[in-house]
Amino acid sequence: MTTDDPPPIRRLSEWDAARLRDLADEHGTPLYVIDQGRVRENVANLEQAFHAEAISYAVKANTVRTTLETVADTGLDAECASAGEVKRAVEAGFEAVRYTAVNPPAADLDHVVSLSDAVEDLDLVITIGAADTLAALEERGYDGPLAIRVNPGVGAGHHAKVTTGDAPKFGVPFDRVPDLASDVLDRGFDLVGLHAHAGSGIHDEDDLQAHRELVARMGELARDLDHDLDFLNVGGGLGVPYRPDEAPLNLDRVASATREAAGDLDATLGIEPGRYVVADAGVLLTTVNTVKPTPETTVVGVDAGMTTLLRPAMYDAYHEIRSLAPDADDREATAATVAGPICETADVLGRDRPLPAPERGDVLAIGNAGAYGYEMASNYNSRPRPAVVSLDGSESELAVERETLSDLTRLEIEQ
Ligand SMILES: *Cc1c(COP(=O)(O)O)cnc(C)c1O
Repeated sequence: MTTDDPPPIRRLSEWDAARLRDLADEHGTPLYVIDQGRVRENVANLEQAFHAEAISYAVKANTVRTTLETVADTGLDAECASAGEVKRAVEAGFEAVRYTAVNPPAADLDHVVSLSDAVEDLDLVITIGAADTLAALEERGYDGPLAIRVNPGVGAGHHAKVTTGDAPKFGVPFDRVPDLASDVLDRGFDLVGLHAHAGSGIHDEDDLQAHRELVARMGELARDLDHDLDFLNVGGGLGVPYRPDEAPLNLDRVASATREAAGDLDATLGIEPGRYVVADAGVLLTTVNTVKPTPETTVVGVDAGMTTLLRPAMYDAYHEIRSLAPDADDREATAATVAGPICETADVLGRDRPLPAPERGDVLAIGNAGAYGYEMASNYNSRPRPAVVSLDGSESELAVERETLSDLTRLEIEQ
């Protein structure tokens, strides 16, 4: 690292409170804010550590058009999980697109195969995770390059995370890959790569050890195939510190561990981070509606909930919460449970957080909301989805409009 490198992580405390308050004033809340400058810094940090590897952005972490364009401009490839993602990645200007077909619906395959014919110079690879997807592609006349998604978690003696991280739903069982590879080649397809992704993520030493095992197994598999591959992709899952006292991931260490574990390869080693590219580039702004003292805690009711940011309700995920009140420093710390407006017990964004005594009308910022935030927003409880604002330097522009109440019934057929 040199002093010119971007900081490894942007903490919630580093966002300019006055600027965020102004955005909340101008656009209303709940509001996602995504800083394209920070997205570029994250890509630069990844490229610095993984200098020899091919990097794809797993677009499902954030598919807002502006964000996709920023990442496409940096030259990263796109890793897509659906026809919709492939369409959006192509429209945003990605030239190389990997479509990883997880139990692909017929309509998805139709769409992706037709795009591969229709878009000139599109560098598309379809990654199959089951033998019968091969037949489905054959039926559609696909004759482009293929990769195989491997489920590396097999047998005893392997780290629990590797086994549980890749549920049987994902990928072809490790031991069956050589047979499928022969089948792919026998049917005249161009087999260009192997792929694996463990969903669990790399945060600490145990995770890094599990990652090493995964990569080492994949390296062996690639060497055992008597066929030359272009790439071996070992997935995403690079962790970000959600808690203020957590250290950032040491990317250089992860990169050298990845290289070392893969061993000698004729193929390019690839990674496909999603979260790492966008998580700390985004915050969610929300306004306090009610402050209710209870015997256990102060319940702070806000206008964002599990339909705005699902991760706390779905994964028990921790997201830092900060008061943007101009006089926050003068207020006494209060243990606050920040809850949304949805009729579900799980609709809590943070429990017993020491916040400067919240007041109605305060704007709160929720950190690390750039990844899997807006993407997982829903209309449950007939809540319109929030707006998204994109920052670039001192500029800001609306990237996604706020849904309205009439949008909620837009697709209904009047009887
Ligand atoms: C979701 C996903 C990723 C990205 O995971 P992150 O944890 O966001 O880095 C990479 N590859 C595949 C196949 C995925 O499904």
